[in-house]
Amino acid sequence: MYEEMDKEFVLNTYARNYINFKQGINATLYDDKGRDYIDFTSGIGVSSVGHGNARLANAICEQAKNLIHTSNLYLIEPQAKLAKRLVELSGFDMAVFFGNSGAEANEGAIKIARKYGEKNFDNKKYKIITLENSFHGRTITTVKATGQESFHKSEFSPYPDGFSYDKNIKKIYDSIDDETIAVMIELVQGEGGVQPFDKNEIKELAKYLKDRGLLLIVDEVQTGVYRSGEFLATNLYDIEPDIITLAKGLAGGVPIGAVMTKHKDIFVPGDHGSTFGGNFLSTRAGVEVINILESYKNSGLLDETFLYFEEKLPMICESYPNFFTGHVGLGLMRGFRCKDAETLTKLVNACFDEGLLVLKAGKNTLRMLPPITISKDEINEGFKRMTSALDKLS
Ligand SMILES: *Cc1c(COP(=O)(O)O)cnc(C)c1O
Repeated sequence: MYEEMDKEFVLNTYARNYINFKQGINATLYDDKGRDYIDFTSGIGVSSVGHGNARLANAICEQAKNLIHTSNLYLIEPQAKLAKRLVELSGFDMAVFFGNSGAEANEGAIKIARKYGEKNFDNKKYKIITLENSFHGRTITTVKATGQESFHKSEFSPYPDGFSYDKNIKKIYDSIDDETIAVMIELVQGEGGVQPFDKNEIKELAKYLKDRGLLLIVDEVQTGVYRSGEFLATNLYDIEPDIITLAKGLAGGVPIGAVMTKHKDIFVPGDHGSTFGGNFLSTRAGVEVINILESYKNSGLLDETFLYFEEKLPMICESYPNFFTGHVGLGLMRGFRCKDAETLTKLVNACFDEGLLVLKAGKNTLRMLPPITISKDEINEGFKRMTSALDKLS
């Protein structure tokens, strides 16, 4: 009944699977028939502290009983708290603006970069270089910032000017011209195929930009908030970007986006804003998620989980050479490179039939983004189900 309702009344933008989930406990989901699924997707990297997390649910409930929203015209205590926590955990001298999604965070980053270019140079610098196979969002501007031609459908044109794409990090140097203000990258391309970049190449690029007063924007919408093993992938790569964006895992499923920058004076009142952004509900949720994951990291549990997950990958890869050509990624952002797109589709469907949720990325990557708090039992069960899916297809 709801399937028909959805098909009639919801615009058709997703190729939905009509499974009807009713409940979740950590990395396990239950559908309306009581069937369980191991969740290696966490809602595309969002449910970072798992489903049904009691601490997060209580924090949200208590906050909702008092205040959900008052607008940014007034002080919002949890917004100030979350901003302070993000800045402290990043280790950078930055300040934060809150929006409601990854795309919005990146829009904020682009605005900061453009204003910085206007203010700090005699000529107008506004161009932003991104990478092929990147993904930066679905708004008209962030989709244009996304370095995949298939996303730039002509029926939505015209798109904003000032974006160009390079094949890899090394190519960027030649593309920088007198109007370039920033380079925007993911440190691990998520949607593009769970592809991490080389640490030295990134450090070199960061230094090159810094020496010329140009900006490095790191899109950590997917890699941020402990998904890489550190609070930010930026910390793992040992760089200091000018601008960092966050979203997906930051509030455990409550919509949120954040853009942080060390150029704290660039915006003045009126330059940017959001009605919902940073409200009591989302930022209170964000504070709780950060508290949960910070203690998870400090207790050593996070590193243990990450290692446990990682150790499974080579075994599976090597046992099924007819399916896989290798494994990629880091932290709890992992992928198996499949032989081809057809193998990938078959495998994702077979995993689903066995009760395991996995994602696709790029053309041929099976992507896994489990909750950061996934248990060892759930990891074991997930890979057991993947193995039986592989066996059945073999
Ligand atoms: C998901 C994602 C976005 C877009 O986030 P939305 O919340 O869907 O707008 C942007 N950048 C990266 C790297 C992402 O993974």
